[in-house]
Amino acid sequence: MKKLFPKKQRPNKKLLLAGAGHAHIGLLRRLARKRLDTLQEVEVSVITEHPQTIYSGMLPGWMASHYKRSEISIDIAALCRRAGVTLIQRPIIAVDADTQTVITFKDAKNAKDERFDYELLSLNTGADTDMTWLNTDGLVNEDLIDKDLADKNLKNTVIPVRPIFNFVEQWQQILKQAEQVSDYKVAVVGSGAAATELVMAAQFALQQINPSHQAYLVCGEQLLSGFDAGFRSRVIKQLQRRNIEIIYERAKGLAGGKLATSKQTLAADATIAATGVMGSAWAAQTNLETVDKGFIAVNDKQQSTSHDNVFAVGDVASRVDREMAHSGVHAVFGGKVEADNLLAYLVGDKLKSYRPKNRTLYLLACGDKYAIGSWGNFSAQGCWIWYLKRYIDKRFVNAK
Ligand SMILES: Cc1cc2nc3c(=O)[nH]c(=O)nc-3n(C[C@H](O)[C@H](O)[C@H](O)COP(=O)(O)OP(=O)(O)OC[C@H]3O[C@@H](n4cnc5c(N)ncnc54)[C@H](O)[C@@H]3O)c2cc1C
Repeated sequence: MKKLFPKKQRPNKKLLLAGAGHAHIGLLRRLARKRLDTLQEVEVSVITEHPQTIYSGMLPGWMASHYKRSEISIDIAALCRRAGVTLIQRPIIAVDADTQTVITFKDAKNAKDERFDYELLSLNTGADTDMTWLNTDGLVNEDLIDKDLADKNLKNTVIPVRPIFNFVEQWQQILKQAEQVSDYKVAVVGSGAAATELVMAAQFALQQINPSHQAYLVCGEQLLSGFDAGFRSRVIKQLQRRNIEIIYERAKGLAGGKLATSKQTLAADATIAATGVMGSAWAAQTNLETVDKGFIAVNDKQQSTSHDNVFAVGDVASRVDREMAHSGVHAVFGGKVEADNLLAYLVGDKLKSYRPKNRTLYLLACGDKYAIGSWGNFSAQGCWIWYLKRYIDKRFVNAK
């Protein structure tokens, strides 16, 4: 393949990294270790909302007080300095791929927008929590809850786990409230691994404050679908051992401290949603091709299906050629391939495919220093798995 920009004639180019997710952290670390020839005449910038990225894998451990906040945060500002990359700390609100512009709020107070142009764009902004799970559509018994109020208040009353930065602030408020009363209830809504980790972390933390506080899980018809049956049964046993009620009903709105399911209302002083992901809000304001619930459509090279000079990886993107879960594992491993492809694109080299492995290691923390691991059909549990998880997570957060 002919090189678009042979090294010597290559013009100054702008590579914009949007979001400081797993993939961009990997690329920045690579640049901090070694300045790459390919980027010699390329201006590289990162636009991200916060100067730190909180590592989701350690979030339940932080909720349960096993880690300090600093231990689960990756300092993006320091990383950019080490990598010699400009940091633009602003939230992205839109991407116009036809004019090659990323639009951000200037700052949260005066809400003026600012535009950044690029020749090559990489998107790694993660995703938002899919709250549609909790709206009252299909609520059979409308006497259970004030439907209009529940739908109107959905965004104010339910605490989504994403964006994680906001969740961290809200969890601290939950703990403060729990300290003031003798009977506090937290509902976690969701049926995936994140929801089960969150409910066990919440139960552990609440019961340190007062043993009569309680967390429970509202998970719809099935818990952990897609996981091996042995793993699922281990998780359910651990939930039961921790006295966490599992309600196999679909949550249908929250109003006036009542969480409705299709059959009953449940008391909830706070409700956390870990109900899967949907595209980030900015993805509703883009002319990039999107699929499903607002994810950027990408091919096997993690390249936008509508605009060649845009790549996307991690939760922000959906592959059009295969089913692939939105998970940190794909953000990391897909991110390595995507970074290589950005560099290859700059010099007109051949792009690589990201082919995920058939099996991935999943380690699920149970609140206390105990965890369950799954690798294909094999699963195991114990304190040693928690320490293994801690070792792997710390290695990721502290990597240089
Ligand atoms: C509790 C919990 C535990 C989990 N555990 C695991 C696990 O053990 N293994 C696993 O594989 N997956 C796990 N996941 C899923 C995993 O967290 C996600 O799949 C992963 O974080 C996606 O990574 P990412 O790089 O796409 O984006 P993220 O890690 O979400 O990073 C996105 C970045 O973009 C920035 N950003 C977002 N929006 C904007 C904007 N508008 N403007 C500017 N910047 C923006 C953010 O501040 C952040 O820096 C877990 C999820 C949760 C909630």
